[in-house]
Amino acid sequence: MAEQPRSLPEFEARFPDEAACARWLLEKRWPDGFRCPACGHDRAWELGRERLTLQCAACERQVSVTAGTVLHGSHLPLRTWFLAAWLMATHANGISARQLWRQLGLGSYKTAWLLVRKLRRAMVDPEREPLAGLVEVDETSLPFRARGEPARPGRSHEGKLLVAGAVEIRGKGPGRIRLAVIDDYSALALGAFVAAVIAAGSTVVSDGWPGYRRLKDVKHDPKVVGDAPAHLVLPWVHRVFANAKRWALGVYHGLRPKHLQAYLDEFVFRFNRRRTPAAAFERLLGLSLSLEPATYNILVGRS
Ligand SMILES: [Zn+2]
Repeated sequence: MAEQPRSLPEFEARFPDEAACARWLLEKRWPDGFRCPACGHDRAWELGRERLTLQCAACERQVSVTAGTVLHGSHLPLRTWFLAAWLMATHANGISARQLWRQLGLGSYKTAWLLVRKLRRAMVDPEREPLAGLVEVDETSLPFRARGEPARPGRSHEGKLLVAGAVEIRGKGPGRIRLAVIDDYSALALGAFVAAVIAAGSTVVSDGWPGYRRLKDVKHDPKVVGDAPAHLVLPWVHRVFANAKRWALGVYHGLRPKHLQAYLDEFVFRFNRRRTPAAAFERLLGLSLSLEPATYNILVGRS
């Protein structure tokens, strides 16, 4: 019954109309049955079939199935949200706002862009567990179209986007990953990244860059000796960086600094669920249920 659609025809059968989408939201929201957010009562009347709203049988409080979700307040049909989430979750390389705009036949590009931004925002689980065990950590710079970038040696980062990456090593392969935008390669920035994404007691494998010398709460295993190429000692984090760069070029035709973290979050979301593509859709919409609705101003970076 909880089978997730694996093809577009299956999706159509599973979510044929607004009522089916609303029912799905209802079940996700109250898996153990309705519970009134105001008085805790467990019986409610159903009002409306499409934008399903429940009315508490005791205190008459009305609760929409979309309240408190990223879908709330949207004028788009639930089915449009579901289809967009399904496409984003199952498309091997992800889908850009422009592609979604065309595929869903949406009225404007801006609508598609907001939809994608809101779903992407739901890709970060605030409750997610930090990486643990043996973790490769490194940093890289992503070039973007900048004018007058001065050519400087070493780890200068003028005109580039700086990214820190961490990859769990499970046996012979990668486990989960994290990617984050960083301001610079200082011990402060790299230490903050490690502290935020890696559990205390883990072992960090790095290329020996001085920025990693004073890590707290983790063991540090610097690997590079002399001129040994970093990709030989940190194979997985380098592969992740390479894939992320290729993906950004392919799907987004390059990166814009302003939304870089959102792009990275999507890449991480896909990578960490690469073996469970069918569950990614449910995860995406399910996760979004626990988030506060995002306003346009939050998404475009205005406060
Ligand atoms: Zn009530």
